[in-house]
Amino acid sequence: VPAAAGVLESFSLDGDAVLVTGGAGGIGAAYAEACAEAGGDVMLADIDADGAESTAAELAEAAGADVRAVACDVTDEDDVRDAVDATVDAFGGLDVTFANAGIGRLFDPVHSQDLEHWREVMAVNLDGVFLTTRESAAAMRADEGGRIVTTASVLGLVGTETPGLSAYVASKGGVVQFTRQAAVELGPDIRVNAIAPGWVHTGIGGGMMREDAPGMEPVQEQMRQETALGRLGYPADLKGLALFLASPASAYCTGAVYRNDGGYTTT
Ligand code: NAD
Repeated sequence: VPAAAGVLESFSLDGDAVLVTGGAGGIGAAYAEACAEAGGDVMLADIDADGAESTAAELAEAAGADVRAVACDVTDEDDVRDAVDATVDAFGGLDVTFANAGIGRLFDPVHSQDLEHWREVMAVNLDGVFLTTRESAAAMRADEGGRIVTTASVLGLVGTETPGLSAYVASKGGVVQFTRQAAVELGPDIRVNAIAPGWVHTGIGGGMMREDAPGMEPVQEQMRQETALGRLGYPADLKGLALFLASPASAYCTGAVYRNDGGYTTT
């Protein structure tokens, strides 16, 4: 049964508790902003505790919402459990989780890819999404269910001509498949979907995606040319889709991967 009669009301998160990993900046902060603007109470969980605190203060002020922060390394089981518990304690439950924290740097090409680097990427991007989903699902199941949104990437769906991204591409392909399987195993009371952003100006990769990243202009120009909308994305470009998937507006959506890539994967 559709959750709300009025479509605009179905986008409301009024009174909902939201957890965002990697919420200190970039895409996670934009997800958090969307949820706070829609009436949700939001916990930012990030390894960058100071960054999460200051982003929480900014969002709380701008949206007039309850936004808080907790220090959390998503590769650490206890940290993830504590972040979920902190959200439940602060807001009385957990309705929405964005398993978003991720890293991605250019490493060596496959034939000389270092195992330590490979494992570092897998630990954050794949183990982190698994742990965040597991701990969130346990809390949601103890209550009325909820919605989980993972951050995959278009690079979980296609390869790239840029060498040195094999660990990242593999980890995001893993997020895509994990999301599908989690949706089957956690339904019907928990919906699980993935957002697959294209290239977005954020701090990822030590800042290589930032608009003014030194030396990155030729690479970014190539990405732009491969993007139907003729520009790279900004975190705010992801807010609408994030709110759709976090809210009852997407009541009949689960196990799906939503591209938000300006048309990067159309060719
Ligand atoms: P970002 O670096 O701006 O933000 C990532 C956040 O995650 C940071 O606040 C960082 O402190 C946090 N983080 C890193 N390791 C962590 C850990 N172990 N535990 C907890 N927090 C940790 O990058 P972003 O671009 O906003 O990335 C967010 C997500 O979006 C990632 O999963 C990334 O792979 C994905 N993504 C980004 C792009 C892009 O072009 N920027 C494209 C597709 C997907």
